[in-house]
Amino acid sequence: MSGKAIGGAVIGYGGMGNFHSEKMQSVKGVKLIGVYDIDPERNKLAESRGIHAYSSREELLADPRIGLVTVATPNDVHKEIVIDALAAGKAAICEKPVAMDCAELDEMIGAAVRYGKLFTVHQNRRWDEDFLTIRKIIEDGELGNVYRIESRVHGSRGIPSGWREEKEHGGGMVLDWGVHLLDQMLTMMGSRQMISVYASTTHITNDECDDGFTALVTYEGGLEWLVEVGTCNYIEMPRWYAFGDNGSAVIRNWACEGEIVKIHNRGEDDVAPIQAGAGLTRTMAPRNERTVEKFPVVKVESDWAEFYKNVIDVLNGKAESKVTHPQLRRSMKLIEAVFASARKNEVVKF
Ligand code: NAD
Repeated sequence: MSGKAIGGAVIGYGGMGNFHSEKMQSVKGVKLIGVYDIDPERNKLAESRGIHAYSSREELLADPRIGLVTVATPNDVHKEIVIDALAAGKAAICEKPVAMDCAELDEMIGAAVRYGKLFTVHQNRRWDEDFLTIRKIIEDGELGNVYRIESRVHGSRGIPSGWREEKEHGGGMVLDWGVHLLDQMLTMMGSRQMISVYASTTHITNDECDDGFTALVTYEGGLEWLVEVGTCNYIEMPRWYAFGDNGSAVIRNWACEGEIVKIHNRGEDDVAPIQAGAGLTRTMAPRNERTVEKFPVVKVESDWAEFYKNVIDVLNGKAESKVTHPQLRRSMKLIEAVFASARKNEVVKF
């Protein structure tokens, strides 16, 4: 395949299908051949943009020019479409969440092995600059030994309308934003042993699907990760907060505004108590510049096209896939544990 652009197609031409078809038109090494959506109006829209729309999924999968299919449909039909694409001899990229549960994912992995085709998932938020920035701060040891990382996204409009509000289609925020934030955590923690998770979900705007959740994951060595997604938050909390024995860091937003505060003199001789509410405290008295130093956060730049570049390199035999089956299984297992913990109001141990 080396040298020649791989023919690409997208199934499901909604919001993300449009994103993927644009990527296939702009990234070197892949050439968009066409799309298919079950909704004729979406196919008409594609045609109006100069993109060929197939009349059926079967017609698209029978086209020998296509080597790579991206599936960007609602979550409940990922499995059947991915398996059909693999059976038709195409490599498959699936949107996240890859599946509704581990059992579905295992069938998809089984098909990829059986048909000997690449099957990977668009975990694009591994390339988010805010994530790469907090990762660098922590991995460079800026905060010393880290005890807590908090990863949050907050919106205020509830769940977007449509299939995301319905359980049978894989709606809810655990399967929407949760899968991204948990995947970031798992990617960054690598082989560090996860001990347990305790989770709760919110149903403020929707009885059927969670419109937010909190998961507290404990790792060996006393590190806690808090992952929180909210859709009824009119005051946003920082995207990232972390602290270690050498300092604290905050990244407030996707633009990576924030700071790192490092301690250079832990012991202070003359801390005066301050008035705090109805009492006095020395413990909670703020630090001054003599013992701490503030640094701006330096954003790590990244390129969103990296995911597609990796897929193309894999198809040309030049690289290993960055989003692997064991990673997907681990993430799906954790999602099942989050749901189980929330349902039973219990800590789930690994
Ligand atoms: P959407 O509702 O905008 O689009 C889905 C499209 O799929 C619709 O046009 C619908 O008609 C079509 N469709 C439904 N069933 C189909 C079928 N059987 N065959 C062909 N087409 C079918 O939804 P969206 O926001 O584009 O989400 C699609 C997928 O992308 C979901 O899995 C979602 O979780 C994921 N997503 C990922 C990101 C990301 O950052 N990676 C962001 C948003 C959505």
